Amino acid sequence: MFQRRTALVVGVANKRSLAWSSALALLKGEFNHVIVTYQNERFKQSIEGMVTKQNDAMKQEYSSQNVSKHVSCLPCDLAQESEIQALMDEVLPSLIQDRNQDLGIHAKIKLDALVHSVAFAPSQAMKSSSDFPLLHTTMEDFNVAHSISAHSLITMSKYALPLLSCTDDDDDPTMRSPSITALTYLGSTRAVRNYNIMGPAKASLEACVRGLAMEISPPPHNIRVNAVSAGPVNTLAARGILNFNELRHEAEERSFLKRSVTAEEVGHMVEFVAGRKASGVTGQVLFCDGGYSSYGG
Ligand code: NAD
Repeated sequence: MFQRRTALVVGVANKRSLAWSSALALLKGEFNHVIVTYQNERFKQSIEGMVTKQNDAMKQEYSSQNVSKHVSCLPCDLAQESEIQALMDEVLPSLIQDRNQDLGIHAKIKLDALVHSVAFAPSQAMKSSSDFPLLHTTMEDFNVAHSISAHSLITMSKYALPLLSCTDDDDDPTMRSPSITALTYLGSTRAVRNYNIMGPAKASLEACVRGLAMEISPPPHNIRVNAVSAGPVNTLAARGILNFNELRHEAEERSFLKRSVTAEEVGHMVEFVAGRKASGVTGQVLFCDGGYSSYGG
């Protein structure tokens, strides 16, 4: 009954993005259609190129198995609530319907997973030369960081609720097990040098994960809400952190695996948490960091 599984992954900037490795892992797993979003026109051409290449590769890989896997891409600026609303109310339903029609499938329009892989803080708050960068955070920078990195999860969840919810009679919650998964970092609970205002923003994001899980995991919605806390991976957002390489090397030295995790490994963790195999998991922060968060010195 639930052969077709659709996921929305928000926050692809390039091939290194954890959103992209998550999208690829979801496609390798139980999801047939993954819709990725990018922030604005600046990313359009390169993301469309990545998506076309991926679709060509999947056509080759799956044609003999009679399986259809597809990735689509769309813009969505999380700073604009109207864009999130339009995405969930109009753009996504019509994209999912078009895809179903192309395949001759008459199924209800549903979203099975939402992955939030977005963070932002103004560069002056992240690359400050001050010895006390958090102490000098302005209210405006604080608000921007929290708005994009944490409140956007609430807004996305609110508008995605009708698509994700198990409110139809033919929805078996354990079979469909819809999910929301956010990407987070250990700076939420530990003081991490140069993580500055992103620490409080990730603490807020993780609190939102628990609060949303409390509200929308019970029936009738049955939506699981979790976060994956990743170790340092070299991405565009990571390069916005002052001396990111030092942070990464320290994590390598202190992690039990004695290396950085890869974007692929984070993607696999997201695939697990977002998918049906994790149908009993909600309100959690799960670590994919080589054991670094358990290190006690
Ligand atoms: P990335 O730069 O590839 O992804 C961040 C994304 O956020 C980008 O696509 C960017 O365009 C998007 N974004 C920023 N402002 C936006 C807005 N207003 N509207 C829409 N999109 C917006 O970097 P990444 O490392 O893949 O980051 C993804 C997530 O993973 C973030 O939440 C980040 O905090 C988290 N994370 C990253 C690491 C790491 O070391 N890279 C570790 C732990 C957690």
